[in-house]
Amino acid sequence: METKVTRRKFLQITSATFAGAAILASSNRVVENAIAAAEKKNGVVKIPSYCSICFWKCGLIGYVKDGKLWKLEGNPLDPLSKGRLCPRGNGGVGQHYDPDRLKAPLVRISSRGEDSWNVTTWDEALSYSAKRLMEIKEKYGPQSIAVFSHGPGGVFLKHTMRAFGVKNFTAPSFAQCRGPREVAFELTYGELVGSPERTDIKNSKCFALIGSHLGENMHNTQVQEFAEAIERGATIIVVDPRFSIAASKAKYYLPIKPGTDTALLLAWINVLIQENLYDKEFVENYTFGFEPLREYIKPFTPEWAFAETGIQPDLIRETIRELARYKPASFVHPGRHVNWYGNDVQRLRAVAIVNALLGNWNRKGAFYKPVKMDIPKYPYPPYPEADYEVVYNPNSKYPFAGEDEGLTQGVRSATITGEPYPIKAWVVYGTNLIQTMPNPAETIEAIKKLDFLLVIDVIPNEIAMWADVVLPESIYLERFDELNISPFRIPFVGIRQPVVPPPHDQKDGWWIARELAVKLGLEKYYPWMHIEEYLKYRVEAAGLSYEQFKKDGVILGNEQPIYVEDGLKLEFPFTPSQKVELYSTQLAEKGFSPLPTYERPPEPPPGYFRLLFGRVPVHTFSMTQSNRILMDMVDENEVWVNSDVAETLVLKNGEYVYLKNQDGILSNKVKVRVTQRIRPDCVFMYHGFGHTSKNLKRAYLKGASDSELISRYDIDPIMGGTGMNNNFVTFVRE
Ligand code: SF4
Repeated sequence: METKVTRRKFLQITSATFAGAAILASSNRVVENAIAAAEKKNGVVKIPSYCSICFWKCGLIGYVKDGKLWKLEGNPLDPLSKGRLCPRGNGGVGQHYDPDRLKAPLVRISSRGEDSWNVTTWDEALSYSAKRLMEIKEKYGPQSIAVFSHGPGGVFLKHTMRAFGVKNFTAPSFAQCRGPREVAFELTYGELVGSPERTDIKNSKCFALIGSHLGENMHNTQVQEFAEAIERGATIIVVDPRFSIAASKAKYYLPIKPGTDTALLLAWINVLIQENLYDKEFVENYTFGFEPLREYIKPFTPEWAFAETGIQPDLIRETIRELARYKPASFVHPGRHVNWYGNDVQRLRAVAIVNALLGNWNRKGAFYKPVKMDIPKYPYPPYPEADYEVVYNPNSKYPFAGEDEGLTQGVRSATITGEPYPIKAWVVYGTNLIQTMPNPAETIEAIKKLDFLLVIDVIPNEIAMWADVVLPESIYLERFDELNISPFRIPFVGIRQPVVPPPHDQKDGWWIARELAVKLGLEKYYPWMHIEEYLKYRVEAAGLSYEQFKKDGVILGNEQPIYVEDGLKLEFPFTPSQKVELYSTQLAEKGFSPLPTYERPPEPPPGYFRLLFGRVPVHTFSMTQSNRILMDMVDENEVWVNSDVAETLVLKNGEYVYLKNQDGILSNKVKVRVTQRIRPDCVFMYHGFGHTSKNLKRAYLKGASDSELISRYDIDPIMGGTGMNNNFVTFVRE
């Protein structure tokens, strides 16, 4: 990163560090006091907190030896980690010591996209940001500002921006990840799947994973339960064009043609009904629309599905019979990253319906009822009225789009077109939009139209390098944050608290949000000075001891019934029929098919292969490629190519090639992995590599970026998510 750091600037930074806002000094003191007060044995300090390498929020214990961050372990009291972190979580130490981290606030001194900055003080950076945001609000109204955020750290920033009159909040976790499944399950059951997913893998006798890569997607609790299920001998069915790690543990592997999953699901529904394998009592008492479903499903036989999916009819029958044999302790997993083809809600509705026919809702071994600790909210003053329509969903074009996690690409296209109204500023927290959203060229086009781009992050990633102001946040091991009150099997609350102080001039997200609010004249929205006042208020309002909480890191509530088997009553008060809607009255009302539809996916052009992507076990999205510990394990991605295809194209294992997509976009060079573990009509890459920010020194141009090759995306008409598996690539040699 080219920075102009004059001696005067150094002195300014130094003086700002020591003589800046009183709150900052007190913030650092709190960190030191917390560390001093923590449990100490043989010179080793132990501090509980929760992980943020991904957003599963596992409870951890941080160990500090001789004042230095030494190691991380799972907190045995925490119900999510159960005393064990995943490999990424263990590598969190590398975030703290990452030499590429953003170290001080930066203000751009050149055109956007160029790498030239002034290192400045927090006071200057925040005053300048507040001034720009106020000018934009004054000229174009609060609706011209959009906030993108990901993860629990964005809570306080969103609070500040809401107080400023902003309503355009978006998160890639909806439109680029799990939105379709939440919408589909809410339409069917009136309830979300949620995160952590309410799937009871631990007690399941049989479950199916469709394109869901447990073991590569390392969400800790699920993977631990998956391992237990394998050990117990549960029947595992994996449907995937690629022989994933999960597939290698399965009894049944269905190498499905990409994009045809709904055809398989319709055939499964057909067999369940035609062979009378469904749960009749559940269907009769708790579902709506069985008769229309029975009629509708008749043509979708396993023979019909074979022509679409390439899966033998016998195997289709055998696998659904297996799921039915173990009902209600069997289920089809709803997946997590499910924005694939742009008709994803319909596919996930089919998943929800198979599950309903298995009668497995709130049943042991399938879907449990999550419970949550009752922690009162902080009594903030009400936000100002924001009586304008959100920019990303004009005239409710996508009737089931999210609100708090609005449509990222809706904001992006409004920024480019100025329709339905202009967007002039983006505030981006903890999400590298250049890699997260499909078609980065479109993201860059939108950025060029902005008057102001503020980025808050921990590393100098691609989006930070396009910003006007970059505010360096301390990493999760150095800061306090919002409480973790995730819905789970047992109510619990977890604390994030600093294990070590930040090594440079980085600040906590809550502090940044509060100071920005002060500069924007919104002090009244922060009656507390330090986040510990906020945390203490909430925890004590729930009748819990804050001191004990800090010491243990987690407080567990009383167990509650989570299954029908425990005496839980089955109720569906949140659907219009107050039943499980096999036939969706809400979809019918909005002009969509009330029963799941299948659309045949387009074929790749000759010589091209469908591009699929997924997670690598030791990285999270494009967030961790700067972490030396994790990069020592996997430092580039590969493109998986079927052996027969490789032979025809004379591609060798380990050779570097470029990928070119159907629109002529060329990737960075990427290593070929020749394998029989993938169908010949597609290729696969791990997501998050191919960084183009030179300031990510270890990650720069390592591997190829799948996002870059995803220049086409299909928007789900029901909820506005971006289907990103509709791109095709071919191989290009140097
Ligand atoms: S799953 Fe792994 S990376 Fe994610 S929060 Fe848990 S330990 Fe951390």
